[in-house]
Amino acid sequence: MDVRKELPEVFEEFGDARKTQFMVAKEIKDQGRPLVGTYCTYVPVELVMAMDAAVVGLCSMSDETIPLAEQDLPASLCPLIKSSYGFAKADKCPYFYFSDLVVAETTCDGKKKMYELMEEFKPVYVMQLPNTQDEDGFALWKNEVVRFKEKLEDFFGVTITEDAIRAAIRDRNEERQAALEIFELMKMDPVPMMGHDMFKVIYGSSFTFDRVLSAQQMRDMKTRILDEAEANRAKIGHRPRIIVSGCPMGGATEKVARIIEESGGVIVAFENCTGIKNYHRMVDESNPDVYEALAERYFKIGCSVMSPDTYRFQLLGEMIDEFKADAVVDMTLQGCHTYNVETYGIGHFCTEEKNVAYLHVETDYSTTDEGQLATRIQALLEML
Ligand code: SF4
Ligand code: SF4
Repeated sequence: MDVRKELPEVFEEFGDARKTQFMVAKEIKDQGRPLVGTYCTYVPVELVMAMDAAVVGLCSMSDETIPLAEQDLPASLCPLIKSSYGFAKADKCPYFYFSDLVVAETTCDGKKKMYELMEEFKPVYVMQLPNTQDEDGFALWKNEVVRFKEKLEDFFGVTITEDAIRAAIRDRNEERQAALEIFELMKMDPVPMMGHDMFKVIYGSSFTFDRVLSAQQMRDMKTRILDEAEANRAKIGHRPRIIVSGCPMGGATEKVARIIEESGGVIVAFENCTGIKNYHRMVDESNPDVYEALAERYFKIGCSVMSPDTYRFQLLGEMIDEFKADAVVDMTLQGCHTYNVETYGIGHFCTEEKNVAYLHVETDYSTTDEGQLATRIQALLEML
């Protein structure tokens, strides 16, 4: 008898990884290995991996602790900041609790100021991220990468060798490659899985602390998806092909992905920080200067905190072509000024330069706008 789990069940297991991997984080701590928490895609995790520590993304994705956060923070801040602060303050997030050090970064103003408050109850280290991706900005950033390595050495009392950094670069590149191979599957039309399921695989994998195992799991997933692709593609059929862009998605905001696909579309790619943006560039393994190689890879991440945000437009343009998208849904969070302002340029870019439809939806971590979201998304899909 084939006792293999059904594919939808496997997707759900990945989707639940944030909850189920708590115990693994505890085991890591029990073994005496450090855990480092991060809030942003710009943090070069290879440096943490190089000291045999585990690294975990801490951005919180539920509205549960927002009222608590609003006791200290303005209600008008973006829900991602409020939720992250609220979970930290309430000590409700085991990943935060187990983190020995939290790595912050000077991205948007709200986050920057929130980290100052967070320092009251957790060791926080701030990386100074430039706002412009030019030569001077790069020099500053490379210096920050070296400074971060020195901080880790000093804080944890370890020596991080260049050989260990090179090994970490190889492992993380391999994991990125495995994720990209999953993303690539969505270039098929019809697609072999729904975009929300793909999201669960990628997001869930980020909670596998062993990066080599994470790459292996994604490769196994790819094989499994390909094995069943023929039947699933026939079942799914052709649907309007959507790229989701904008603020990071996950938890409460997955409502947008669910509504797009319940309304008849399919998400062929996520451009945001919980999607391709976090995986698509490799660290150059041939560069003898490991700090320069790391700095280059992370410096070219497109984010609305950059001015101008050249790399976001570049990546989105390439993705529209490669995934043969019909439309872009730009999901922004309330209170996120940089992404909200950038919708103007992204909208024009999509409709006038790339000739695809564009919809901007601004949301938060509540469920109160689901009806309105459904109406607007259905209207977009009918138009395609
Ligand atoms: S959207 Fe920008 S600030 Fe937010 S995690 Fe991504 S890179 Fe960092
Ligand atoms: S979503 Fe926007 S406001 Fe919120 S943390 Fe990210 S960049 Fe800052």
